[in-house]
Amino acid sequence: FGALEATDPEIARILLAERDRLNDGLQLIASENFTSPAVLAALGSTLSNKYAEGYPGRRYYGGCEVVDQAETLGIERAKALFGADHANLQPHSGASANLAVYGAFLQPGDTLLAMSLPHGGHLTHGTKVSFSGKWFNAVHYGVSQETEDIDYDQMRSLAREHRPKMIICGGSAIPRLIDFAAFREVADEVGAILFVDAAHFIGLVAGKAIPSPVPYADVVTFTTHKVLRGPRGGMLVCKAEHAAALDKAVFPMMQGGPLMHAVAAKAVALKECATPEYQAYAKQVIANSQALTAALAEEGMRPITGGTDTHLSLLDLQGIGVTGAEAEARAGAARIVLNKNAIPYDPQPPSIASGIRVGTPATTTQGLDEADMRVVASLISRAVKDADGSETAAVAAEVHELVKNKPAYAS
Ligand code: PLP
Repeated sequence: FGALEATDPEIARILLAERDRLNDGLQLIASENFTSPAVLAALGSTLSNKYAEGYPGRRYYGGCEVVDQAETLGIERAKALFGADHANLQPHSGASANLAVYGAFLQPGDTLLAMSLPHGGHLTHGTKVSFSGKWFNAVHYGVSQETEDIDYDQMRSLAREHRPKMIICGGSAIPRLIDFAAFREVADEVGAILFVDAAHFIGLVAGKAIPSPVPYADVVTFTTHKVLRGPRGGMLVCKAEHAAALDKAVFPMMQGGPLMHAVAAKAVALKECATPEYQAYAKQVIANSQALTAALAEEGMRPITGGTDTHLSLLDLQGIGVTGAEAEARAGAARIVLNKNAIPYDPQPPSIASGIRVGTPATTTQGLDEADMRVVASLISRAVKDADGSETAAVAAEVHELVKNKPAYAS
C-alpha cells in the first residue's frame, strides 16, 4: 500500500475511504461479499502481467509454465469441490461465462427458455437490452401469482410449445431452492440443453448447505464473488462431453488472454471453500437470511414466497407505503446498503420498484449472527419508515455500534 500512496495518493485515499465505508456500515447487497486477504493477495500479484492465451500446457505464449500451475490447481479444485467432470476458470465475469455458453450451444436466431428478469431472472437470460435477447429468440417463464415461486407448469408448457434449444434456470432474485430435477426432465423431454446460472447460490452449494445443480445440468456457470467469496469474475463447470466446445467458446471465441491473477485468486477461493469453516459459514448465511427475513416480516415487510431458503430475500414494501427506491435511499443514508428490487407483478417501474432485496453473505463473513440480524431488521425498519430523515443519525450511530468490533477489513 505504501507504493500506491507514494505514486498516487488520490487513488490511495479512495481505497482507504472504500475500506472505511465497508467497515462502518451494513452491506446487505445479496451479490456482494468480503473476500479474504489471501484472495486479495493473489489479485494484487505479478500474475497480472502474464499473457497466457490458451489452456495449461496448450498456450500461445512462452513463459506460461508457472501460471499453468495456478490454473491447473484451480481446475482440479473446482472439479473436486463440485464433483464436476470439467471446469473453466477463465471467464472474466458471470456475463462472459453466459456468453460462452450461448456461443457453445446456440446459433443466432435459436430459441432459449429462461426465467423472466422482472420475476427474478438475469439480464443475460434473453432480455432485449442484452446480447442474449438481441441475438436469440428468448421465451420467458415466470413465477406463479399465488406461490410467487417458479411456475413449473408454465415452464413445461412453454418448453413443449416452443421447443427451445436451451433451457436456463437461475437468476438474481430467487429466494427459494430450484427444482433442478424438474428442469432436467423438461429439457430431456424437448431435447434441450440444461444451463444452470448458479451465480447467486453456488457458494451455498460449495458449502454443502443446499443441493447442487451439477448432477443435473449440462453446464453450470457462476460468478466467483458472491456467496463463494472469491475475486470478481466468472467460471463454469460442465459434463465431459461439452468440455471442448465450452473451452473453445471461452477462448478464442469470446475472450483473449485470461486474467491470470484472477484465475489464481479463484483457485485460492476454491481452496477456502473446501474447508469445514466455509461449510459452517454457508449454513450460517442461510440461518442469518432466514432470521433477518422473519424479523423484517414482523416489521410489516412482506417476504415474497413467504420466506427464504437461501442467502437472499425479496421484501414487498407496499404494506408499509414505501417504494423500493425510497427504502434504498433512506437505508443508505443510515449506512445500511441494500437495493431496490422489482417484485413479481410489480405495479411500479423498475427504477422505483415496490420491493427491496437483502442478502447476508457479507454480514455473515464479518461474524454477525441471528441475534444481530434481529437488530439489523429493526434498524432497517426504522430507516425505511423514516420519511423526514429525523432518525437517520440515530440509526447510523447504532449501525456503527453493531459493527465496530466486527470490521469487514482490519486496518
Ligand atoms: N448471472 C446471474 C444470475 C447474476 O446474478 C449475475 C450478476 O449479478 C450475472 C449472471 C452476471 O455477472 P457479472 O456481473 O459478473 O457479469
